[in-house]
Amino acid sequence: MTRPDHQLRDNLAAVRERIGAACAAAGRHPREVTLVAVTKTWPAADVRRLAELGVADVGENRDQEARAKHAECADLALTWHFVGHLQRNKCGSVAGYADVVHSVDRLELVDALSRAAVAAGRQLTGLVQVSLEDGPAAGRSGAAPAAVGDLAAALEAAPALTLGGVMAVAPLGADPEPAFARLAEVAAEIRAVHPAATVVSAGMTGDLEAAVRHGATHVRIGTALLGHRAASIG
Ligand SMILES: *Cc1c(COP(=O)(O)O)cnc(C)c1O
Repeated sequence: MTRPDHQLRDNLAAVRERIGAACAAAGRHPREVTLVAVTKTWPAADVRRLAELGVADVGENRDQEARAKHAECADLALTWHFVGHLQRNKCGSVAGYADVVHSVDRLELVDALSRAAVAAGRQLTGLVQVSLEDGPAAGRSGAAPAAVGDLAAALEAAPALTLGGVMAVAPLGADPEPAFARLAEVAAEIRAVHPAATVVSAGMTGDLEAAVRHGATHVRIGTALLGHRAASIG
């Protein structure tokens, strides 16, 4: 898909404006919120363009695509965030390029990521992905809130991994406010035990304001920056 040359710059300015306004409304400083540009489905050329425009953090959700894009952008000083569902057999690959893994939602991933990071001679930051779904969907993407403490402790203890904090996706089609309020509680519980685990990764194109209101330190924005993704891949 072709995009006019000024489009990314304009979109980025608009997203920064939204983050700034949300921070002002919440009495927070915009520097407290890191923009992670979610570049999934878009080519490495877009990553490069975003880097030229001052974006320092990019997010991807599929290993194969992320690994290829990272290789194409090896000359850029970017922080790479893996934000998608992670399979155990992909940990070896992900540990080779990701700096922050947002989707640690079960103990077997802690072990697999730690081994892979040790083998690769890298240090990774891991976030515990918290499920904010109620009822039958609970725990489908993310750990149940009651399991987060054990996962955080495991991340903290694992060689070559650093516990960064927590991550969540708001439940589909529901008000994000109570979900992000719950996430803020879980984040505070984790910080009470692990004071350095300050990251709260929450907020996407549709709900970044609610996330910032509830203490997000990282917002993960794709559509508002790059446009709508092809429907089947998103
Ligand atoms: C795709 C994706 C995003 C970005 O979503 P947009 O609505 O396009 O901003 C954020 N977080 C995760 C985990 C994603 O998979």
